Amino acid sequence: MNLNRDRSAWLQGAEAVCQVQPIHPPKSRRIVLLGAPGVGKGTQAALLSAAFGACHLSTGDLFRAACTHDPAELSATMRAAIGRMQRGELVPDETVLRLILDRASCLTCRGGFILDGFPRTVPQAAALDVLLHRANLSIDAVLSYDLSVAAIIARVSGRRICPVCKTVYHISSLAPRLAGLCDGCGSTLMQREDDQPDAVRVRQGAYDQSTAPLLNYYANLHLLVRIEARGTPEEIFARTTAALRRFETTGDRC
Ligand code: AMP
Repeated sequence: MNLNRDRSAWLQGAEAVCQVQPIHPPKSRRIVLLGAPGVGKGTQAALLSAAFGACHLSTGDLFRAACTHDPAELSATMRAAIGRMQRGELVPDETVLRLILDRASCLTCRGGFILDGFPRTVPQAAALDVLLHRANLSIDAVLSYDLSVAAIIARVSGRRICPVCKTVYHISSLAPRLAGLCDGCGSTLMQREDDQPDAVRVRQGAYDQSTAPLLNYYANLHLLVRIEARGTPEEIFARTTAALRRFETTGDRC
């Protein structure tokens, strides 16, 4: 199965109605991705989404989509959230959870999900558990991508993103066909503000402090699968699907 799931409803807020019919693969997947910023979660999320027909839901994309609006149209809370994002800091749980609740239908969709960037704190993980439990659903696996800080910095400095369709590229390992232009929609690629070196350092600190505790949280729930994130996106993806298969058939988590 190779489908590019349209995520426009996820990015458009509470009133948006998803026009995409959920696919019914033999097994729909509900997968959470963890890993330090820049480890390549977004790229793996897109590949997993295409392979499993589950939508790639990124909270970072929600905030980046808000950045494209006229600031005067945004609430003070959203303007503050964008400021935090641009400095590389985490957005407060309350703001993130309000956005997530607005799009709860994406999380309870029968097609499943690949969650990228959420949850990022233990209270967010607990809130996700409650939301899924109410819908009689649960997470199938939490994939944690591991990579050294030096390799992460090399990866982040070459990362480029399409501001329109959000496709992620890398100037050497995942280059677009035409330099600087999105393969899908032809838009000019950009470097994310929070991929600048100062913001990367702040984001790494936020990950160590707030998100790393999620490893224990999900290990205790026997959901954590660790994956080495070195190599090309295709190599990491092959490792991911192999680890997931092992986990689903034997419960082996590394
Ligand atoms: P990402 O694209 O996932 O790296 O997210 C970019 C930025 O959006 C993060 O550095 C945070 O400022 C903000 N953000 C995204 N998701 C969350 C979240 N679950 N909790 C707090 N802040 C978030």
